[in-house]
Amino acid sequence: MEYSEWLKRKDLQFIDNKLYFSSFNVQELAMEYGTPVYITNEKIVRTRFNQINDVLKSVLNDYNIHYAVKANSNLSVLTILHSEGSYFDCTSQGEIYSCLKAGITSDKIIYTGNMFTDEDFKFAIENNVIINLDSLSQLDRVNKIYESLRKEKKVISFRYNPEFGAGHHVHDITAGKEIKFGILDNQIFDAYQKAKDFGFRQFGIHIHIGSGITNVMNYQKAIDKYLSIVEEISKKVGFEFEFVDFGGGFGIPYHPNEEPFNFDLYKKLVLVPFIDLINNRDIGEPVLKIEPGRFLTAESTILVTKINTIKDNGYKTFVGVDAGFNTLIRPILYGSYHHIIPCFMSETAKTMKYDIAGPICESGDILGKDREIFELNEGDTLAILDTGAYGYTMSSCYNSRPRAAEILLSNGKSYIIREAETYEDLLQNQKVPDHLK
Ligand SMILES: *Cc1c(COP(=O)(O)O)cnc(C)c1O
Repeated sequence: MEYSEWLKRKDLQFIDNKLYFSSFNVQELAMEYGTPVYITNEKIVRTRFNQINDVLKSVLNDYNIHYAVKANSNLSVLTILHSEGSYFDCTSQGEIYSCLKAGITSDKIIYTGNMFTDEDFKFAIENNVIINLDSLSQLDRVNKIYESLRKEKKVISFRYNPEFGAGHHVHDITAGKEIKFGILDNQIFDAYQKAKDFGFRQFGIHIHIGSGITNVMNYQKAIDKYLSIVEEISKKVGFEFEFVDFGGGFGIPYHPNEEPFNFDLYKKLVLVPFIDLINNRDIGEPVLKIEPGRFLTAESTILVTKINTIKDNGYKTFVGVDAGFNTLIRPILYGSYHHIIPCFMSETAKTMKYDIAGPICESGDILGKDREIFELNEGDTLAILDTGAYGYTMSSCYNSRPRAAEILLSNGKSYIIREAETYEDLLQNQKVPDHLK
């Protein structure tokens, strides 16, 4: 992909040597709101949702796109996706709570937790949220809770582990025998048989093989196995699935030399075989679900940070900025690449090689290594791209640094959608026992 095209797909461009995001001069936004700051472009969230929606709509009548809330759980982001017709996938009570607060009704939420507690089950059942179970023992527990709450046992779903996973980092591969998620072949039939015996009447099945998948072929192996197990369960246990969930994991081009996710190939390798299964085998007409997180929000957001120090130690030059791994943990946690660009363009300055370093007291606090950028100065502003997924949601207040603000750009206006934390916020839940006062 051409570099300018790559930027354009993220709604970024240089006008008069200044970086614009949507219709906004990024440097000016940095001055107005301070740094570090997460800036989200509403249009991109909508565009990405519709991109996936168009792919599904071209081959299916009935489907649900469940946005994986953990990628970015800001209420405004949830509301934007809700207005586009999105459904939601939650991994915790807190995420369900956020969705309900955003006015999303429980029929649009699926709860794919793992290591569920009884309180998790109670919360989900009381709020009429579909539960996607992760172990056989959880089925016994959830059944008891349904009975003690005297709630009708309607839908139950299991996460199946197809023993083949993929992802951009080992921590993001979520299927395989050694992986904590899902139920393997040896127990999956028992799971559904038992659920049926307990009196559940509607069934779903789910896989999520990993995250940040850019090679669509990686889906193929898992999907072929998945579809045959769906058919086999349906026939052996004797019911028709209400839904078959293919999970998320669609990667995005973080690096300018990466290509966008190939949805044509996804359609061919995943959607068409699913449709063939429905058309040719007697398994009813399950609704297809998918759960994109990263794809919907990553490219919608830049993290803007200001250079405070340029340090040439004689061997290496460090560009010190006010965002660190407290603000964006993906580089240190997964070795993830985030493209970093200055908020202005210099055609005359010479090219340098820099490590972009945060202020956290650990040598691993490097947001970008050996980056070739033209010569920078203290006081300049940088944009760290594609930080709308697993950016703010994974941030912390480590080193007692309050979390950044979040700004939304929408139709030529900018809005604060989350205030920056204050020092008071950092201390607000602490209590000092009397004897220490
Ligand atoms: C994290 C997660 C997703 C979303 O993954 P992305 O890579 O962000 O698309 C979907 N489903 C489940 C169950 C998840 O845990």
